[in-house]
Amino acid sequence: MPYAELDALKEECGVIAAYEVGEDLPWLLYIGLFALQHRGEESAGIAVSNGRQLELARGPGLVSEVVTSACLQQLHSIKPRLGIGHVRYGTSSDMGADNAQPLIVRYLQGSMALALNGNLTNTNRIRRELEENGQIFQTTSDTEVILNLIARYRREGIVTAVQRALSQVQGAYSLVLQSDDTLIAVRDKHGFRPLVLGRLGSGYVIASESCAFDAMGAELIRDVLPGEMIIIDQNGLRSERLLGPEVERHSCIFEYIYFARVDSVVDGLNVHAVRRSLGRILAQEQPAAADIVIGVPDSGVPAAVGYALESGLPYEEGLVKNRYVGRTFISPGQSQRNLKVRLKLNPNRHVLEGKRVVVVEDSIVRGTTSRNLIRALRDAGATEVHMRISSPPYIAPCYYGIDTPSASELVAAKYSIEEIRQMIGADSLAFLSLEGLLKAVPIGGNCLSCLTGKYPVQVCQERN
Ligand code: AMP
Repeated sequence: MPYAELDALKEECGVIAAYEVGEDLPWLLYIGLFALQHRGEESAGIAVSNGRQLELARGPGLVSEVVTSACLQQLHSIKPRLGIGHVRYGTSSDMGADNAQPLIVRYLQGSMALALNGNLTNTNRIRRELEENGQIFQTTSDTEVILNLIARYRREGIVTAVQRALSQVQGAYSLVLQSDDTLIAVRDKHGFRPLVLGRLGSGYVIASESCAFDAMGAELIRDVLPGEMIIIDQNGLRSERLLGPEVERHSCIFEYIYFARVDSVVDGLNVHAVRRSLGRILAQEQPAAADIVIGVPDSGVPAAVGYALESGLPYEEGLVKNRYVGRTFISPGQSQRNLKVRLKLNPNRHVLEGKRVVVVEDSIVRGTTSRNLIRALRDAGATEVHMRISSPPYIAPCYYGIDTPSASELVAAKYSIEEIRQMIGADSLAFLSLEGLLKAVPIGGNCLSCLTGKYPVQVCQERN
């Protein structure tokens, strides 16, 4: 099936887990999840276990809205030894409390909770098969399909059950699971989505990004490897492989460009350092005759600083961000999006007036942000606006866990750079080259499908 016809399943998320990190475990999970809030603002949740009982707090909203102090007390009340958490952004079509994670199942002798970041591509078929066998589903989430498969095999032991279940699903995912007193973390065999392992006291922590560890006071040990399954129980930590042969790594390049927080270390590279190099290389490739360089907060700022350093132009705080407005995208509907851009970024007239400005942005997706921004910069007195993008044109939808619109809404998929320049009203517009990007991320083995349209793994989402 041609990719363009597929529905891009959108599920940007963050996951966290902790094992034996002390009596403050729910609080530490809360803090860690709070640091991952940028990975999803639609719903949040924490599940904890003492090995026999499970407590859960989850629902729509920000971490601070969902996990209230009353919830934290409730989570503490069972004296938990392990727990997991999740923040989620899904599509407008499946918004709602029912799809908040972690998802749980309780059975006669125990319980299980699962939280997942990613997209699975063959779950419709598995769901149909399970339904034909009498299984009832509470949510529309892929995560519930995995949870059901694991529950099915759990008599074979949790490790085998997870391996067997995951050998049936295809897609991009990083997940954390607690089963009674065992904690399991898995990164899919291609390592599309990030996942890191850390140490806190004599216990362990797992998270989508290492910035969560900094907040928790934990130490980063290493990335969970593609196809690795980490098992933590009373015997300590051990590592197993997922079933099947070893395959190539395809970790997401967009985590560096936009998604991850700058203080995180993803696959061994600090995100801030990468973004700064992107800006430096961009300045070498695409210089501009201007007076000042400004960045679009947050993701564009380190690249703008890199651009300024390389070009010798002064960096100025030309756009001031209102910290209380969420990410531009994290609000379905175009009119809401326009409003949010205006609410979120205010041009600083004091530094812009009478200046020729280079504005550095991490990406252009639909073009909404850039268009509104350039108008606002001119209104604030900028005499020229030269837009520089610290990534190559975004030309193809992501099927591996980043929320992007369909190809028809991606401006770079339909128009030339000159046409986009005219649409957004810039005096000049230029993008970083793919070679330039790869210079700044020299580790190799990254998925570049959104920038090349070449998908490393066949996407085979069956329709219902
Ligand atoms: P647009 O306004 O549609 O061109 O989107 C570009 C803006 O959205 C830039 O400021 C990016 O930082 C941001 N962005 C890019 N990709 C995503 C994404 N997957 N989710 C949320 N925001 C994004």
